[in-house]
Amino acid sequence: MTDHGKGPAWSNWSGKLSARPKSVVQVGSVEAIRSELLAARDGGWTVRTSGTAHSHYPLLPTSGVILDTRPLAGLVAVDNDAMTATFRAGTKIHACGRPLLDHGMGLLNQGDIDQQSIGGAIATGTHGTGVELGSFSSAVTQLSILLVDGSVVTCDQETEADLFEAARLSLGAIGVVLEVTLRVREAYRLEERQWFEPLESVMDRIEELTSATRHFEYFWWPGQDRAVCKSIDLTDEPCRYPLGDEGQRLAWSFEVLPNQRVNPHTEMEYSIPAEHGPACVVEIRELLERKFPDVAWPIEYRTVAPDDVWLSPARKRPTVTISIHEDVVRDETAYYQSAEKIFRSYGGRPHWGKVHYLNADELSGEYERWVDWWNIRNELDPTGTLLNEDLKKLRSP
Ligand SMILES: Cc1cc2nc3c(=O)[nH]c(=O)nc-3n(C[C@H](O)[C@H](O)[C@H](O)COP(=O)(O)OP(=O)(O)OC[C@H]3O[C@@H](n4cnc5c(N)ncnc54)[C@H](O)[C@@H]3O)c2cc1C
Repeated sequence: MTDHGKGPAWSNWSGKLSARPKSVVQVGSVEAIRSELLAARDGGWTVRTSGTAHSHYPLLPTSGVILDTRPLAGLVAVDNDAMTATFRAGTKIHACGRPLLDHGMGLLNQGDIDQQSIGGAIATGTHGTGVELGSFSSAVTQLSILLVDGSVVTCDQETEADLFEAARLSLGAIGVVLEVTLRVREAYRLEERQWFEPLESVMDRIEELTSATRHFEYFWWPGQDRAVCKSIDLTDEPCRYPLGDEGQRLAWSFEVLPNQRVNPHTEMEYSIPAEHGPACVVEIRELLERKFPDVAWPIEYRTVAPDDVWLSPARKRPTVTISIHEDVVRDETAYYQSAEKIFRSYGGRPHWGKVHYLNADELSGEYERWVDWWNIRNELDPTGTLLNEDLKKLRSP
């Protein structure tokens, strides 16, 4: 997906998405963001806000302006009574762990890597694994947002409640999030364990495995009989340093949960009602064996707790997420489109930051608050300043 203007070359983490925006502007202050938003609104070009550009879906490419929020970083405040912490939106997830530990706190959960920004993580419903653990969006308790008209609004479940619900997962299309308050918990240590197990056995035991520990996931590589399983659980044992390899760590949560993902790839991920997870994996496996035997990248299986976030793929249902991957040098389209049909046949909803091919009608069928979300968005940004071409295609009503 390419959007060619005449400015500097921009690309996302995988390099598969590129653009030539008018400019990429590093912003660290409200004034800088406000002047960019007002200039774009009055000048008629698009502004997209970027965290660390880890998304595979073309949320960011534009011939307008990309606001790079990495300078908008740092812990703003903690509240020990409410057990919340407020970060500037550009703060990377890996920069949250140590400052929170200094206050005796930890994030509720994290995903596979910790390189993304908090603003980017909440805008797409980024999640880790754990049947009782929701996405970053579901942990948000308050947001401070700079709107296209230049005003700053603070919202939570009581104040500007509808805006809050819409902006907890915003696709970067409601305003520029300045600060995010997240529910946190007491600091905690985790121990991980990794083992091989035949895929059939893992699927037979999936409920037992996912409920036995705080975090469970597995990877399965095409052509293999066995899956690589990982469970991570709370421990009172002291941290073991040096950390050791993935699969053997015992340390603070923020030292055990994230991993390295160094090989550039693309990814499609669908959230499936938990009860259909195993059957869906069987079909994806058959698809790989029958039609795409040369795909060498794994599928990943995780769990997410239900939530009530308007556009959350885990909205109101116990969820498993199934991710498929492909190398950036190969064309993933045929594989992903075939897999998407299978995911959809199980009621799957796509990850907002990963590849999918759904249109507005299909998405609106998944989310009863879809039109409400667009109404709020359109009211706050009537000029469509925050919409790139791909988001305009999803515009409703
Ligand atoms: C290697 C890799 C591993 C990943 N692992 C996981 C995982 O374990 N779990 C998971 O769920 N996802 C995962 N993802 C997906 C990733 O977490 C999401 O795509 C996430 O949105 C990326 O965050 P970012 O900071 O890079 O945001 P970007 O990709 O830069 O932006 C994503 C969205 O956030 C918006 N945005 C960013 N900052 C702001 C702001 N301040 N105000 C308003 N809008 C904003 C953007 O406009 C855009 O719509 C992974 C991706 C990669 C490449």
